[in-house]
Amino acid sequence: MLTFFCPHCWQRVPETADQCPHCGFDLRQTAQLSYDEQLVLALRHSVTEYRVTAAHILGQHGAVIALPEFQRIIETENDYYLLSEILRALLNIRDPRSVELMRQAAYHRSRLVAQLAQALLTSMIVEPDR
Ligand SMILES: [Zn+2]
Repeated sequence: MLTFFCPHCWQRVPETADQCPHCGFDLRQTAQLSYDEQLVLALRHSVTEYRVTAAHILGQHGAVIALPEFQRIIETENDYYLLSEILRALLNIRDPRSVELMRQAAYHRSRLVAQLAQALLTSMIVEPDR
């Protein structure tokens, strides 16, 4: 069963609510979005915890739609906690762009991120393509 949550404050909300009971956000704006699309929105949340959770679930789903936002974060951010979750999510997203993003992250300005990407890249390349 799906958990419905407010994309603004990330609190759980009733499926039928028009407005978030916690923060007042107009939920009709996002009601038509798929669960994965809502998770992609959550990647822009101000609280890192929620962003990490969203990245984790998107990875579990193998969500290709997360790749553009993952790319933006890899290119512009330095938070190791978030970036390491994104790199692990890339392992589960079966798309040639995932390998490209991992290659890009292997040269990340954060040394820790770059080292993790280099290690994960090895496991991605060793796997047979098909
Ligand atoms: Zn809310």
